[in-house]
Amino acid sequence: MAATNRPEVLDKALLRAGRFDRQIVVDKPDLQDRIEILKLHTKAMTLAENIDIAVVAKRTPGLVGADLANIANEAAIMAVRIGHNQVEMEDFEAAIDRILAGPEKKNRVLNPEEKRRVAYHEAGHAMVAEHVPTGQPVHKISIIPRGVSALGFTLQLPVEEKFLSTENELKDQIAILLGGRMAEEIALGSISTGAQNDLEKASDIARSMVCSLGMSKKLGPLTYGKRQQLQFLETEVSEYRNYSDETARIIDTEIMALVEEGETRAREIITANRSVLEKLANLLQEKEVINREEMTALLETH
Ligand code: ZN
Repeated sequence: MAATNRPEVLDKALLRAGRFDRQIVVDKPDLQDRIEILKLHTKAMTLAENIDIAVVAKRTPGLVGADLANIANEAAIMAVRIGHNQVEMEDFEAAIDRILAGPEKKNRVLNPEEKRRVAYHEAGHAMVAEHVPTGQPVHKISIIPRGVSALGFTLQLPVEEKFLSTENELKDQIAILLGGRMAEEIALGSISTGAQNDLEKASDIARSMVCSLGMSKKLGPLTYGKRQQLQFLETEVSEYRNYSDETARIIDTEIMALVEEGETRAREIITANRSVLEKLANLLQEKEVINREEMTALLETH
């Protein structure tokens, strides 16, 4: 019996009948699996009444059993540290944030100007996420620095488990990613280095839409560029171009067009809701963390 994460690079000789006859695929756990896994890891813990394991499972798409065990463990540590005599929902929330975004860096103090900028940036992501048709509801916005480089984060909670994305959903994601930078530009008149990761993600989505998902009308349902994984060297990926210079130019303009479309949509949403953006950014500077209830309350009064 043997296990691998890279079945595609195994030597055929190894897979011949009589050696490893049966292959069993163990995929990442889906929502129902995660609920069961979490139940298992919390069995020995004293849980508060208010704990809904399904909510914890919903917030952790893509995580595997070991991550979920880690979250349960962190939640217990949080509870002890805070002095709860049972594990509360807030301990789970803190544990998930810690696993997903890295530990809080309370000693990394932002100056008031930076804090203001991060607040507008995150409020921008949240506003766009709430306004695009397929945006997942914003669960939490935080401007407490975390992990290696994150200065803030906006966490969206998927309504249901998803295995496919439509073209419109990808376009909405690009708009949400550009919302942070756009809010900085509109509210503060300039942009900062804080959006680098967003731009990278937005470009990656646009690039795969054009090059691998056939979502560009001009280029049609073809894939462009072939990735080759060099055997045994997981990190080395070479990409070879199987298209002309002329096509390369069209690819670039198509990617650009998608990103610009997202930028325009983000700008429109933020401009149309400018006063809410101000309120949200002010509230964030004051409280540092805003949850769903506080955010909907603010959106409803406007
Ligand atoms: Zn951002």
